[in-house]
Amino acid sequence: MSEPIQSVRGMNDLLPPDSAKWGFFERRCRELFERHGYEEIRTPVLEHTSLFARGIGEATDIVEKEMYTFSDRKGRSLTMRPEMTASCVRAYIEHGIAKREPVTRWYYAGPMFRYERMQTGRYRQFYQIGVECFGVAEPTVEAEQIAMLVQLYGDLRVPSLPVQVNSIGGAADRPRYRAALVAYLEPHATELCGDCQRRMATNPLRVLDCKVDAGSPVLAGAPRVLDHLTEASRARFDAACATLTELGIQFQIDPRLVRGFDYYTGLVFEIQSDAPALGTQCALVGGGRYDELVESMGGPATPAVGFALGVERGILALPGGAKDFVPRPDLFIATLGEAARRHALVIAQRLRGAGLRVEVEHRPVGLKAQLKRADNLDAASSLVLGDVELASGRAKLRDMGTRAEREVALSALESELARR
Ligand code: AMP
Repeated sequence: MSEPIQSVRGMNDLLPPDSAKWGFFERRCRELFERHGYEEIRTPVLEHTSLFARGIGEATDIVEKEMYTFSDRKGRSLTMRPEMTASCVRAYIEHGIAKREPVTRWYYAGPMFRYERMQTGRYRQFYQIGVECFGVAEPTVEAEQIAMLVQLYGDLRVPSLPVQVNSIGGAADRPRYRAALVAYLEPHATELCGDCQRRMATNPLRVLDCKVDAGSPVLAGAPRVLDHLTEASRARFDAACATLTELGIQFQIDPRLVRGFDYYTGLVFEIQSDAPALGTQCALVGGGRYDELVESMGGPATPAVGFALGVERGILALPGGAKDFVPRPDLFIATLGEAARRHALVIAQRLRGAGLRVEVEHRPVGLKAQLKRADNLDAASSLVLGDVELASGRAKLRDMGTRAEREVALSALESELARR
């Protein structure tokens, strides 16, 4: 006998009943995002490696260490997407969307791939749902996105902490800040990890979110981007914060928040949760403004802002057992004999056509076992169909909760079930 093959480490199956909880969570996200004018986009899982190297940044942890990259049969380097913003920007440029409409609002849902160290809430294939808004420079749009998220977690009763916001500035702010940061870091270089010593020359901002040096006193004392913003950038950040206040959103300014991608330019934000199921406090969602990315990827200058939320973490923090989300059958039809089984299907087809959820027992097992299954499926009602019922056109409809029975005409089942 050969050994059974297991799934790849860090990549999980999603089975019922958990899939019901996922479905619920995803539907609520979609409904809410669509109410805000976002439309769905789907892009391929595979992209040219250069898209992520250029889009996310060569010196980021994701690009340096975490991508699933391989050569295809023609020797082209392809990568399984580690996030969606780069793909959305590629699609936005490739399809000339800017020429078609002044404002574009997209949302997506799907698997992302990162070769990361695993722990609760951190996987190698994980799911993100996110939005991107292209074409709006006004900071009210990031406030609107944050408010949408706060509403989402509030409606779902996912315990979440105040939104953390920061501004990391754009091209106009970077040189001054970069200089201040490098001047500060240089005398401390030997206290930093090898990667960070290298990043000081290539991309010093990345030192601030190094997973190895996180918590180091050197980083804690580093100069803050917020103190080095140009007046215009600071005004935009303040305007976004003022809008959040007007919307009644609880937020905190965290000058240490940098996020792991190079493309961010203005306001960045995260929402964390300390729900016990997550093990440790961790980010449910992260996002921000990336006004320079579309142009740097070869498109027209286009302001943009977006976020991505982690589905696994949202589900872990979402109250309720997975079984609570499984829809229960309206009717379970137990059958005695082949003729009854066939007729049960005719009835079920009619009732399903009317929008009811119906389960028919196909196996020739005893009545007791059938009704036990009806109980296990948590069916609202059950019906036993045998030769007698077929001949009379009437059967006993049982309420599985109260166990009360009523004789009903098979032709009137729709209205009988609707009454319950
Ligand atoms: P990021 O794309 O890194 O900004 O992450 C956005 C959100 O995706 C995070 O806040 C997490 O909720 C989720 N996420 C990121 N990486 C992982 C991972 N490896 N496993 C599970 N969820 C993740």
